[in-house]
Amino acid sequence: MKLIVQKFGGSSVANTERINNVARIITDTYREGNRVVAVVSAQGDTTDDLIAKAAEINPKPSKREMDVLLSTGEQISMALLAMAIERLGFPVISLTGWQAGFLSNSNHGDARIKRIDRERVENELAKRNIVIVAGFQGLNKYDDITTLGRGGSDTSAVALAASLGADICQIYTDVDGIYTADPRIVPNAKKLEEITYDEMLELASLGANVLHNRSVEMAKKYSIHLEVLSSLEKKPGTRVREAIKMEKMLIKGVARDNDVARISLLELPNTPGIAFKIFSCLAAKHINVDIILQSVSSANTKDISFTVSKANKDLAVEALEEIKSSVGASEIRCADNISKVSIVGAGMVANPGVAAMMFEALSEANINIEMISTSEIKISVIIDEADSARAVNVIHSKFIGD
Ligand code: ADP
Ligand code: ASP
Ligand code: MG
Repeated sequence: MKLIVQKFGGSSVANTERINNVARIITDTYREGNRVVAVVSAQGDTTDDLIAKAAEINPKPSKREMDVLLSTGEQISMALLAMAIERLGFPVISLTGWQAGFLSNSNHGDARIKRIDRERVENELAKRNIVIVAGFQGLNKYDDITTLGRGGSDTSAVALAASLGADICQIYTDVDGIYTADPRIVPNAKKLEEITYDEMLELASLGANVLHNRSVEMAKKYSIHLEVLSSLEKKPGTRVREAIKMEKMLIKGVARDNDVARISLLELPNTPGIAFKIFSCLAAKHINVDIILQSVSSANTKDISFTVSKANKDLAVEALEEIKSSVGASEIRCADNISKVSIVGAGMVANPGVAAMMFEALSEANINIEMISTSEIKISVIIDEADSARAVNVIHSKFIGD
């Protein structure tokens, strides 16, 4: 008898018809003789709606109360799905994240799972119940509700699969697999049969939100068989695994991230210690910095530019204003109408000229590159947000074709 963890995202449980559809997927799996744990997200746009509702009441609510509010979305889904399964005549029980033993740290809004006490879920499985678990939520050591960050239900599912020793973790969503680019941006993106953990981790971290990046990290760590597939059409999806068949693809995918802001400090003295002061000041405020660019100008001064998430922009500027005169910057500038577009693929290490090909695609489309960053398996550029969908398309057709 296999143990299967299935996760259903917001669009898969968006309305009554979809919930009944998910109930059928789960009960079919159960009927085939498997033990089933299903992790659910909030219905449709519920989480966004709750965030908007909170902003009406208080533009700066505490993170603790935000988590109390946001966790309710998943609780609605789990109960409705359990009711749909009851109606089909199968034994079922729904559990909140805390009933299912999810213990997290106290970083409200972006908490990390520390441990799962799996006893309750195991007891329910031993009773032959189908177990429905609310994704995205946990409990910290003070018994306060936490949430795992946007898209975090994927991570709930993978963590549960790891903790229970499941045979497979299936992520059901509104696309039928992982594509070479977001099919909403690139209509002729190609579906991948398989992808490695490392490539998917890069893609997810660089904006391909089909999987929460931490879920991929965890799947790799615990060697979880992960599959992304459609809840609406019955066909094979994409498998994420350690090593895959050799194939000729130079790159695996193109990703876009619009959650980027750039901050520049201008005309800094060209002396040692300046970068240290700037970035230790940001680190002290727990601000994550992504791409960094330093340029030397003719007057023996340098400019330093870097990117942060949009949410951290104001905090970063505030912190830097305080040290502006001590580091000798003439001006602090920022922009948030920018995007990061990236290509990912393990094949690029062995193939020189990949970067040139990417820049050629952008140059042919007359798209200006503002910053560049590379690693062994990815190349990212910062460009104007208005050009980003076009950039993803031209890069995609250069490497993968139309
Ligand atoms: P869920 O609610 O099921 O968690 P998400 O909206 O979080 O669904 O993730 C699915 C979406 O991810 C798709 O609708 C698609 O637009 C987007 N996406 C981004 N990059 C990719 C990609 N490379 N392959 C497939 N989907 C992608
Ligand atoms: N409902 C949460 C969100 O919208 C978690 C998830 O869907 O994975 O981010
Ligand atoms: Mg998601």
